[in-house]
Amino acid sequence: LKFKELALHEIILANLEVAGYETPTPIQAQSIPTLLEGHDLLGIAQTGTGKTAAFTLPMLQKLQGRNFSLTPCEPRSLILAPTRELASQIKEQLDKYGRNLKVKNAVIFGGVGQAAQVAALRNGLDVLIATPGRLLDLMNQGHCKLNKVEIFVLDEADRMLDMGFIHDIKKIIAKLPEQKQTMLFSATMPNEIVGIANRILKNPTKVEV
Ligand code: AMP
Repeated sequence: LKFKELALHEIILANLEVAGYETPTPIQAQSIPTLLEGHDLLGIAQTGTGKTAAFTLPMLQKLQGRNFSLTPCEPRSLILAPTRELASQIKEQLDKYGRNLKVKNAVIFGGVGQAAQVAALRNGLDVLIATPGRLLDLMNQGHCKLNKVEIFVLDEADRMLDMGFIHDIKKIIAKLPEQKQTMLFSATMPNEIVGIANRILKNPTKVEV
């Protein structure tokens, strides 16, 4: 299987070519078609397997061709990641694969001042990448609403648990619309994550690499 055989926009395929990617990794080959069909996904995979492209490519495909939201922070897509580093890496990959597509993203994380992040949210965006604590802070201050989210990704769920974010995640999940596509990625499946997966995923495709 080659990327060109997947139902992805020509601009996305061109961006993949520039990146030097020809062949999807196993998690990409198993996830991208089912995600394009709109199914939920449980991905059991570690960093380094190509899981970021597995969820960002179908996301870009779904959001492209639609005028991005100029309303301050009502994202169509929300990606939660446990750390600033991971959130930033996801943003870099979205920028790379989404180059020349009118899909706007912003990243927010804790440990730094919020002014620049708030300014970015005010410019409007399609995809918000966030660490849980900072997202809740900015939501509580009225800087962001989640009522338009159509695609939700919980990345590295087991690390979220280890870092004590489970409570924050549950609060964020409670603010999301009922109708949406959900993807959960985790390297391991401890009981708490199985519980969350059962609650938030509807008839998911399970991919284990
Ligand atoms: P990830 O597991 O998402 O952190 O990705 C690991 C690394 O593999 C990243 O640096 C990606 O840019 C790269 N990568 C992802 N998919 C492919 C692919 N199909 N071919 C070559 N490299 C890839």
